[in-house]
Amino acid sequence: MSQEPSLQDLILGYCQQVGGLVEPPAYGIYEVLLPDDVAARWGFPAHQRFLFAEEEHRAVLEGSATQGSVATEGSAATLLHYGHPLVETVVEELRRQSANGLFFVNNVRLEKPGLFSVIEKAVGLPNAKLFPVPDAVERRRLYHYVRFNFKASLIADEKRELILPIWMHLQSGYPVKSDDIERLAVLDVVNQFKHLDPAELAWLPRPPANPLSEEVLHPLLERARLAARIALGDTLQSLEKRLRRFLELDHARLSQYYDDLQKDAEKRLQKADADHRPALEAKLSAIETERQAKLADVVQKYRLRVDLELVNLAVIAQPKLDLKVEIKKRTAASQRQVAWDPLRHTVEPLACDICGLPGEELHLCENGHLAHAACLAPQCVECKRTFCQKCAESLQNCVVCARPVCVHSLARCPECQRVTCHEHVNLCHAANGEPQRIQAASPEAAASLEKAAPAAAPVPTPHGAELAARRKAAKKRGIPKARTTSVKKPVAGPTGDYVDIYFGAAKPLVSAYVMVKKREIAVRSWELTDGGIAVYCQCGNWYCREDGLVYRPAPDGQIEAQIMSNIRELMAEYHVPEKKLHFYRVVGEAVDARRLILTGRWKDPAALEAARTGFDNLK
Ligand SMILES: [Zn+2]
Ligand SMILES: [Zn+2]
Ligand SMILES: [Zn+2]
Ligand SMILES: [Zn+2]
Ligand SMILES: [Zn+2]
Ligand SMILES: [Zn+2]
Repeated sequence: MSQEPSLQDLILGYCQQVGGLVEPPAYGIYEVLLPDDVAARWGFPAHQRFLFAEEEHRAVLEGSATQGSVATEGSAATLLHYGHPLVETVVEELRRQSANGLFFVNNVRLEKPGLFSVIEKAVGLPNAKLFPVPDAVERRRLYHYVRFNFKASLIADEKRELILPIWMHLQSGYPVKSDDIERLAVLDVVNQFKHLDPAELAWLPRPPANPLSEEVLHPLLERARLAARIALGDTLQSLEKRLRRFLELDHARLSQYYDDLQKDAEKRLQKADADHRPALEAKLSAIETERQAKLADVVQKYRLRVDLELVNLAVIAQPKLDLKVEIKKRTAASQRQVAWDPLRHTVEPLACDICGLPGEELHLCENGHLAHAACLAPQCVECKRTFCQKCAESLQNCVVCARPVCVHSLARCPECQRVTCHEHVNLCHAANGEPQRIQAASPEAAASLEKAAPAAAPVPTPHGAELAARRKAAKKRGIPKARTTSVKKPVAGPTGDYVDIYFGAAKPLVSAYVMVKKREIAVRSWELTDGGIAVYCQCGNWYCREDGLVYRPAPDGQIEAQIMSNIRELMAEYHVPEKKLHFYRVVGEAVDARRLILTGRWKDPAALEAARTGFDNLK
């Protein structure tokens, strides 16, 4: 039998892929209802009855054996075979999809009366307002999507492959959901809007003149890879669950087997005379060695690896209408290009300057950046100015109460040069030259600090040596950890009350503590090392698949998002809801923070690049 997909699989599969309904066959005949636009595109009626050449024979046979009428009724069905115009059309469409290519969407009307007010309604700005830019005019320009087709290989005890298309908005640099575009766009090989200029890129600092050059496509591919991993999330999770279950079973089976062997040998050792003892003792230790090796094997066997290979890419060009607008508040302003998509009839969302993802609601930072609420730095307690994470340097912490104060509001002591909020101006060297530490400056701060310090909050300060040792151990391991404090956990996994995240300026380390009744039940840390982002996990699970892993750092500016997605994975593992996540910035002491703010090496492009190179050279 041939491994090639049959004509039937090909056609029916594709009909479903484009949104058609395929009824189960009756006597070898498939009723298919195609979406109207697809039917129009192919030039066939939407309602089809397909009979396949390879099935014809059987249909006739079955028909004649049971119901003679079917064979003759078959004439009402379309007999499909290679060379049939409909088959040719589908094959051609598939061919265009599976090869690198450049396509044009021409089926749009480039008009939108009252564009400014349409944009005004669509863009959510909680702390700013939208204004027209004097002399700005609506422009018709060419925008692009890039569809990256990845082959994702999920490798563990078996290998699963799937094709994963990721659509990226070239001008905005973020992933887009392609359903509507695919449904509405007619892909043409001819550009009917040749006279239009391409729109400029919004996400690269110095975008090249040609938006389709490698300087653009390479970083876009990096972003697409990240999006692909997120898109794989559910698949990976269910796969991992299955693997964990298998691992538990294998582990239990092996443990039982070696326990029995061991008991047996121990019994014999007890009864043995001095002459035989050495041999039996050697046997016992051999059993233990073999047990460790076998357990290491199964851990390896069920470890999930994900490979993403770019198969091909297609560029889809589509004209859009855009307009320059100004986003303004009392203290800051920024101009942005906002595009109207005449295909989907929507205003395209602006991108967050921190994580690069689109935002329905974006905050204007004091320095003109736009950011998601989650991508902001803590707010200044004095003036309530909003800073984004890129501008976290504009904030310092009062040495007395540790609350954030911005450069505009802080007070610097002329004697000791320390920084305080206004409330604590006289306390910066009040305790024998040292700051007087106040934990409860105001009811508000008291509440937040109480939360920040549950009876000696664990502040992670693994020393370099300790980390190196742990890393070595993790690398060597692969075998169950002989952990004296090991906590046995049920397969379903325990539930954490909350997760505390600690991060600080001193070293590029983020630590997450999963807490139950104020006790930590797991600690997972991410450290930026020369070989990438190294993970250390103490969760007590001997099969922990995170411990010892190294991740390739995401593109500059997306590091927070990358660490946050790891944190969310940990939270999912322990069933901790989003609102039970607390952030603490370690600046001498732990300070309540609203989000993860990475600084120092995490934000040093050279350090990140070195880590990526180190990662790429790992294997
Ligand atoms: Zn963001
Ligand atoms: Zn301030
Ligand atoms: Zn900013
Ligand atoms: Zn203060
Ligand atoms: Zn002072
Ligand atoms: Zn772990």
